[in-house]
Amino acid sequence: MRPFTYLRPTDEREAVATVADDPDASYIAGGTNLVDHMLLGLRSPTTLVDVSRLPLDQVEELPDGGIRIGAMVRNSDLAAHPLVHEHYPMLSAALVSGASGQLRNAATTGGNLLQRTRCVYFQNPAMPCNKRDPGSGCAAREGHGRNNAVLGVSEHCVATHPSDMAVALTALDARVRVLGPDGTRSVPLTEFYLLPGDAPERETVLRHGDLVTAVELPAPPSQSRSRYRKVRDRASFAFALVSAAVAVEVRDETITRIGLAFGGVAHTPWRARLAEEMLLGVPPSDEAFHGAVTAEFAHAQPGRDNAYKVPMAVNTMVAALRDLTSEEVR
Ligand SMILES: Cc1cc2nc3c(=O)[nH]c(=O)nc-3n(C[C@H](O)[C@H](O)[C@H](O)COP(=O)(O)OP(=O)(O)OC[C@H]3O[C@@H](n4cnc5c(N)ncnc54)[C@H](O)[C@@H]3O)c2cc1C
Ligand code: SF4
Repeated sequence: MRPFTYLRPTDEREAVATVADDPDASYIAGGTNLVDHMLLGLRSPTTLVDVSRLPLDQVEELPDGGIRIGAMVRNSDLAAHPLVHEHYPMLSAALVSGASGQLRNAATTGGNLLQRTRCVYFQNPAMPCNKRDPGSGCAAREGHGRNNAVLGVSEHCVATHPSDMAVALTALDARVRVLGPDGTRSVPLTEFYLLPGDAPERETVLRHGDLVTAVELPAPPSQSRSRYRKVRDRASFAFALVSAAVAVEVRDETITRIGLAFGGVAHTPWRARLAEEMLLGVPPSDEAFHGAVTAEFAHAQPGRDNAYKVPMAVNTMVAALRDLTSEEVR
């Protein structure tokens, strides 16, 4: 690890100005992802701006019934927060399905959104990787491809997005609040992440110096329910092979509101807009669920080792929808 300057500002604008003015400066929150990358030699910031003293560690109820989650709220605290536990149970479930208790105690909302892919070739500086070294090639396309993406892939990158929390937030219509050198803005999470295209090194719409200050969730509809299902190699401490986040409202035997997102299948959390359109306004049934979710994967592009993800994702989502709309929970 190379020497670096360490700063711990208490003012958000000062933090933004420091990073924006120095192309080699980086924010650090819990450090559970960034420090690993510094140790592996993937990143060598000359200045680290620690955001842990910024006043961003609260979960607040908003006047419209939604909530604002400060970027420094720890993953464990967010999962256990009464407002989240009661109104957005899918978000609690997604958080506790990630990493380990110790990591969740250190990891933050902002850092979790901005953690980098777990592609093993990205994490190995000896291998070509367009995301790490643009133009160097993609070792994953011909290499071990079991964890690769199947939707929205490009010839330049087939990596998946790793965050469980971001998948739940995507289904819940979250927005990200950002403070940059030019002021604040609010970005829907569905527009926050970028597909790889020909520039996989760009993963979000953030510019250098932009600070994530909070995530905001709209009020949950009164009769909505939500669920997160994650399929992984071990019961804990493992990233998703696939995951499914579902928020659904059923009135008079009809689906009146629905938010569906997948993890583990794309470079971003994947909002399943086509499946949502096909299910809105129809009675819940296994047949409808299966047809809609299968249609979502009609343009999947699996490689040699990851075709299993398509039926796994469809079955995981159908099971989550069935759980939520079954008689006993309606
Ligand atoms: C062994 C292991 C297993 C894991 N398993 C899972 C899992 O199953 N599911 C899952 O979702 N995650 C998992 N994780 C990832 C873990 O959740 C992330 O490491 C963590 O959420 C990152 O948060 P952090 O606060 O430590 O971020 P940091 O490491 O401090 O930062 C990560 C990145 O975000 C940037 N950043 C941080 N805060 C801000 C901000 N407010 N504004 C702008 N930029 C910011 C940093 O500059 C850095 O680039 C695992 C991690 C490990 C090590
Ligand atoms: S899939 Fe993406 S992250 Fe992995 S080696 Fe290829 S370019 Fe790099």
